[in-house]
Amino acid sequence: MEKAISGIHHITVLASDPQANYDFYTQIIGMRFIKKTVNFDSPDVYHLYYGDEKGTPGTILTFFPFPDARRGKRGTGEITTISFSIPTNSLNFWIERFAELAIDFDGPSKKFGYDYISLLDPDGMKIEIIADPAADKFIGWNNEVIPAAHAIRKFFGITFYLNNSLQTEELITGVMGTQFIGSEGKTKRYSLGAQAEEVFIDIVEDRNVQRGISGAGTVHHIAWRTSDDAEQNNWRNKIIESGLYPTEMVDRNYFHSIYFREPGGILFEIATDEPGFMIDESFESLGTELKLPSWHEPKRKLIEQILIPLKTKPFIKQN
Ligand code: ZN
Repeated sequence: MEKAISGIHHITVLASDPQANYDFYTQIIGMRFIKKTVNFDSPDVYHLYYGDEKGTPGTILTFFPFPDARRGKRGTGEITTISFSIPTNSLNFWIERFAELAIDFDGPSKKFGYDYISLLDPDGMKIEIIADPAADKFIGWNNEVIPAAHAIRKFFGITFYLNNSLQTEELITGVMGTQFIGSEGKTKRYSLGAQAEEVFIDIVEDRNVQRGISGAGTVHHIAWRTSDDAEQNNWRNKIIESGLYPTEMVDRNYFHSIYFREPGGILFEIATDEPGFMIDESFESLGTELKLPSWHEPKRKLIEQILIPLKTKPFIKQN
């Protein structure tokens, strides 16, 4: 059998206020802020990266926060939910935490046998926190916010909301190598990646709903994971053979990327694990300074004047 895509690399979402975004994902959800940079294609906007303590592919959630952005409108052609894995005995910890912080959440509920709760981030993006036996095998990381035993381990998966899902399903199974797991209600579940990297793609088809409108709280794109440039180029050729139109490789400093729109309208990226987030900061100092790629460095002063200051906290490694 042809090799499958090995999992999710990162997911990128549109947001509004960068400070509210930072506070929620670091202080409430307990992710590490791993990189403060700008949207390379539009350097007057931040690109904020969160993940596990090392920024491991498969844990990385990123945002383009446009301070005055309007909220997007949920609809088809979008990723509508991002799901995180926590250990199986951690769901009560999160329920109690959100209750204490007076943060609204739904659940606990059950989907495909997994217990989970769901909530909205400050811009209205839906996230799920799922008790996942696969997460039990991952060691969590301690920070001042969430004890390692309960910390988010990785992405569990995402939900595609599509007007007509047939061609998307053909792409993810026939080209990308996902496996159909089963259906529950209107949701079809596919699995991608072996063992530790396994993630789930839930597909909900609704022929009566309009396309979503891009804006704060909506997913901009999902990046699938590939090890290096050579493997990425093989994927690029396969995608061209399937009749789609990937871009040339783009240098994103921390990874190399190709982009294409899948038939249902969602923007896909395939990103390399190399070179990673420690090419311009040490493990200890990830996320502490505004990092710019060399081609934007000459404009640093101007960029710093345009960006609104972001108050971040130093990383304190707990044992
Ligand atoms: Zn990306």
